[in-house]
Amino acid sequence: MSDSPKSASSGVPNSMAGRDVAYCLHPYTNARAHEEKGPLIITHGKGINVFDDQGKSYIEAMAGLWSTSLGFGEDRLIKAANKQMKELPYYHSFTHKTPIPPIELSEKLLSMAPVPMSKVFFANSGSEANDTVVKLVWYYNNAIGRPNKKKIISRMKGYHGVTVASASMTGLPANHTDFDLPIANILHTSCPHYWRFGKDGESEEDFSTRMANDLEKMILDEGPETIAAFIGEPVMGAGGVIVPPKDYWEKIQIVLKKYDILLIADEVICGFGRTGNTFGCETFGMKPDIISVAKALSSSYLPISAVMISDELYQGIADNSAKIGVLGHGYTYSGHPVCAAVALETLKIYEERNLFDQAAKVGEHLQAGLAQFKDHPLVGEVRGVGLIAAVELVQDKKTKASFDPVGKVGTYLNERAIEEGLIIRNMGDSIAFCPPLIITEDQIDQMLDRFKTALDKTLDWVKAEGLI
Ligand code: PMP
Repeated sequence: MSDSPKSASSGVPNSMAGRDVAYCLHPYTNARAHEEKGPLIITHGKGINVFDDQGKSYIEAMAGLWSTSLGFGEDRLIKAANKQMKELPYYHSFTHKTPIPPIELSEKLLSMAPVPMSKVFFANSGSEANDTVVKLVWYYNNAIGRPNKKKIISRMKGYHGVTVASASMTGLPANHTDFDLPIANILHTSCPHYWRFGKDGESEEDFSTRMANDLEKMILDEGPETIAAFIGEPVMGAGGVIVPPKDYWEKIQIVLKKYDILLIADEVICGFGRTGNTFGCETFGMKPDIISVAKALSSSYLPISAVMISDELYQGIADNSAKIGVLGHGYTYSGHPVCAAVALETLKIYEERNLFDQAAKVGEHLQAGLAQFKDHPLVGEVRGVGLIAAVELVQDKKTKASFDPVGKVGTYLNERAIEEGLIIRNMGDSIAFCPPLIITEDQIDQMLDRFKTALDKTLDWVKAEGLI
């Protein structure tokens, strides 16, 4: 950053990168490293590609943040936004009022839900949706006369957002350290990563039984009368794309039923075709009481998220709001008409183009293509389902020992991928793939070619540095 010309008046470099470093505090970024490194400035996108300010193109193998399922430049979404902007750019849903798009979107979402759901509540992000979930669960349990049943169990390595309650449910150290989180009443049970945490000789089914036993032990230790809900992503995303082991959700749900504990499915990544079905719940046989969605709901063209609740929850919540006089929860932008119109159009496009079936089909191509890396000297595990996958790098394939520090090699690989025109994401040394659902088999091959080059360059470097 030091060599860009500086503006005489402010001392701030004139370049866009210099101004970024001068003015922006970036989310999920090492701020000091950013002062040196500066930003990669993305200026436009088309299909599965984005372009930087130098005109270089990249395959967006992460669909942004697991989210731009229709890729970039989908004209129909732009038109839907434009039309709604002209008609009614904003209105709210408080105090018995509403614009039309959230009505139509709620109806559509309920028709798609994997289990019968009764009502939809809108928010703006996955985090807000999950904070809403916590509040609705607490409100509901107060409403039906069990004020002590309030604790929520999440999982280590689960990801549910970064607002105060959702970050508390997230099971990753960086989201808690020095933020004084988690808050009270949030617990974390074991992470169901069979390859990493399975014991020698333990089958996948036995591992799932152990996970369910861990959960039951936590419930009994805390007192079942204190546990309100269990939240989980069908497939853990930001924790490293962890696909549940065989029978995991079945065994977990037996425990939850036994102790009258609600199941919350965080479908923020898995929802809308990602795992090859409309919802991840269908892929893994989950029967949730509450579902949160975001990201692909609008292909991330505009911020919108939603919480679907069962009729049982709705009835308790509705009674309580009548008793108190109001449901004291809602955002200025809950059910924003432009965001809802774009989401509705997104869901129509998924259906018209049969994109969830397409995701299942090209997903098989992705998983088969990634399987070729299983024998690579740096690769410990290749895992995934549908159009979401990860490759975990290890220092020792036999012992599964990670590199020390975790993330150094993953970050190096990430940088090589950028050079090759490929945007992936390293979560530590797990490298994620989550491309737009519109990706073709040829484009997947191209993506994997670029990944192979970056991985081989990383191996050369790892050897040269004496890291293996
Ligand atoms: N839940 C899951 C499963 C997520 O992956 C994310 C975001 N990566 C969130 C919740 C939080 O969503 P947001 O970043 O929109 O707040």
